[in-house]
Amino acid sequence: MSKKICLDPGHGTQEMNRSPDSTYIEHEFALDMAKRIRPLLEKRGFDVKLTREDASTPALSTRASIANVWGADLFVSLHTNAVGGGGGWNDDVRGWTAWVYRLNGEARRAADALLETAKAAGIHTFSAEIYPGNFTVLANTTMPAVLIEYLFHTSQADVALLKDSDYRKRLALATANGICRYFGVAYEEPEVEVSAPSRWAQEAAQWAIGNGIAKGYGDPDGDGLVEYNWQTPMTFERMVTLLYQYDQRRRAEE
Ligand SMILES: [Zn+2]
Repeated sequence: MSKKICLDPGHGTQEMNRSPDSTYIEHEFALDMAKRIRPLLEKRGFDVKLTREDASTPALSTRASIANVWGADLFVSLHTNAVGGGGGWNDDVRGWTAWVYRLNGEARRAADALLETAKAAGIHTFSAEIYPGNFTVLANTTMPAVLIEYLFHTSQADVALLKDSDYRKRLALATANGICRYFGVAYEEPEVEVSAPSRWAQEAAQWAIGNGIAKGYGDPDGDGLVEYNWQTPMTFERMVTLLYQYDQRRRAEE
């Protein structure tokens, strides 16, 4: 019998958590993520239910009871984090975290699997990574339950990633992979692998980024180098395209 996964897109129009510049709304992100994760899980044979399909704001206890009544095998609540009550930016606090009711419970195993696949996808994490939280959706659910805080919507760098469609795709795939990993189901390798350039290539990598030749994902892990799949084998068409783009750029500057 298929395993049942209940995805809980956090908040709704009654809870308009947003970035300080209001260009990012948490409840919209959460629903988009749930709708991205659902088909990935269905493709691997899971049954998936969402606690909301629109911008409505179900009560926290309702979200838990939807999962309980349905008999979900795993509950995953989708959120983004915020730090500081002043409503301003804080670029020092960034990254992925997961919350479970108890650190020594079964949900911890699911959170560990989600963490592992998040890291494999190059997603940067915050501090202790997995935290205990007495949240209603974690306390009132009768199956293992994890609440993911995908990055901080109070960090400008994190918000840039949260608004990026390719990055959302990466987050969704990492989450689906983590759920597969927890249940021992085969999962896909991340579509967007990230890796650091080799030491000897770092100056060239910085030059390529600075000149707009390599497009990266910012610097989520804070090591001063833009995340990019530097180890991808080079195809001939990719090489001539890069040479052509560079030549066009050089001519435009002359
Ligand atoms: Zn939230």
